[in-house]
Parts: sequence; structure tokens; C-alpha cells
Amino acid sequence: AIPTALMVGTGRGAKLGILIKNGEVLEAVNDVKTVVFDKTGTITVGKPQVTDVVGDERRVLQIAASLEEASEHPLATAILARAQQAQVTPRPVTAFQAVQGKGVTGQLNGQTAIVGNDKLLTDFKLTAEQTAAMERLQNEAKTVVFVGLAQQIIGLIAIQDAPKATSKEALTRLKRRGLKTVMLTGDNQRVAEAVAQQVGIDQVIAGVLPGDKAAAVAQLQQDGQVAFVGDGINDAPALTTADVGIAMGSGTDIAIDSGGIVLVKNDLRDVDTALALSRKTFSRIK
Ligand code: ADP
Ligand code: MG
Repeated sequence: AIPTALMVGTGRGAKLGILIKNGEVLEAVNDVKTVVFDKTGTITVGKPQVTDVVGDERRVLQIAASLEEASEHPLATAILARAQQAQVTPRPVTAFQAVQGKGVTGQLNGQTAIVGNDKLLTDFKLTAEQTAAMERLQNEAKTVVFVGLAQQIIGLIAIQDAPKATSKEALTRLKRRGLKTVMLTGDNQRVAEAVAQQVGIDQVIAGVLPGDKAAAVAQLQQDGQVAFVGDGINDAPALTTADVGIAMGSGTDIAIDSGGIVLVKNDLRDVDTALALSRKTFSRIK
């Protein structure tokens, strides 16, 4: 009877677009106390767009686009699209480097150029005006990247990635079940908190470098079983560490391979549906 109930459970999941790798995963879902979410591409749509450029727009875009041409980050895609719209042509860059969780650097006309967050700004100083602009934009839930050339910050680019239409409802459902919800992101604290408030997340852990996401999950496991929901290459270790790893179907192959559950429809409400399915299956068995 037990294997039959499990087969029915996983089979029903598959019909709903919730791929559950095996019966153990379905059982583990039943004991989850905390659900941890990646931000970009999981809670948000994952198609960031440039909303504001602070500084000499064409110059800022040209330096940024020149560096981002060699990057595959979603923020790079957004900056390149905006540069193209403004008919700004990127210049050749040498000594390009992508710095995980921070940004990109390179040489432009013999000068050091950077595009990235505050962690990349060790050799650069913001003016009072730039600091004020940064805070205002971050409070609007926009990710701010700094564009620097030859020891000077020449501008800021604000990039927005809207929450998916169903994210808020998904979070409401989980909280109704008494689960704790957490956002774990490499993005800035202020931006993360603004997004968390939009969708209703209990706790924010921001500024986490890609290599540190798994450790953050392990920390949360001290309070009970944890499910982690993510989509990116940098989410794979956290997906494996969590008691239940839930990958978005739109995610990278490595995220999908690391997850015990795959949400084919990329709809976060399916986290709650998976829980309901698990409860139903195991109430029948126990
Ligand atoms: P997430 O956890 O949201 O997927 P990442 O770890 O990929 O984020 O990146 C964290 C932060 O590092 C970004 O919000 C951005 O500030 C900075 N960053 C990373 N890559 C780039 C890039 N190519 N250009 C500009 N900024 C970048
Ligand atoms: Mg992501």
C-alpha cells in the first residue's frame, strides 16, 4: 500500500507540472519548517531592465556595455539592451575579469574600468550625491551597479526585476501553513528588503556570495527542515544542502539536476501544492 500511495502522489505531481524525483523527496517535503528562496529568477521574473542612469548617460552606458559584453550575467544583458537602444557602441576591453557576486572589471583605453556593486568599490569613493541616488534607487527595489573608470565613479545604473505575478500569493499560502519564509540573495540588503516587502517574506539574508549560499542554508537547518527554491548555477550547492531542493523549470541544467523537485511551470504557488500533495500522501500512509 505504501509504494502505491507514493506512486499516486508523485504521479499526481507530474500531472500538475511538479516533478518529484522519488518518494523520499515527497516525504521530506512533509517535514519542512522553513522555505528559503533565491531572489533573481525565482521570486522575480529574472529579466532585469535598466530603469535609471545617473551621470552622463551615454558615457556611463558605453563604459558599462564595453565591460558587460563579455559577461553572461542577467544584469549584463539588461545593460547591453539599454546601450543598444541608446545606440551606444561598446569599445574593446582587455584583461576582462568577472568577479563572482561583485561585478566585472577590465582595461579600457589603458585605464581600469569596473561595473559592479559596492563590494567592487574598494579603490573608489562615492560622492554624497551618488550615495543619495543609490539609496533612493535601492529603496525602490532597484539593483544599483556602479560604473567606474580610472579611480572615479562616473555613474550609476539602476536595474529592476519585477516579482512574478504569482509570487506574493505563493508566499501568503506558505505563511498560512505556518511556515517561515526567507530570501537568500547576492543582491544588496536594501534592494532585497524592498522586494521582500513587495511579496511578503519574513526574513532577508542579502549580500551572500555564491559560495556562501549553502552555508546559509545549513545555518537555517538548525531550526528545522529547510526547503530551498532556486534557479541558478550558484544555487546548486544550496539545492543539494537543503532537506528539499526545489528547482525552477526555467533554471540552469545544474540547478535542475541538483533539485529533488522541479517546478515545470515556474510558478511558486506550486511549492504549496507540493506540500499539500505530501501531506495528503503521508496522511494516507500513517
Ligand atoms: P543573485 O544571488 O541575485 O543571483 P549574483 O550572485 O549573481 O546574484 O550577483 C550578486 C550581485 O553581484 C549583483 O546584484 C550585482 O550587484 C553584482 N554583479 C554580479 N555580476 C555582475 C555583472 N556582470 N555586472 C554588474 N554587477 C554584477
Ligand atoms: Mg537566481
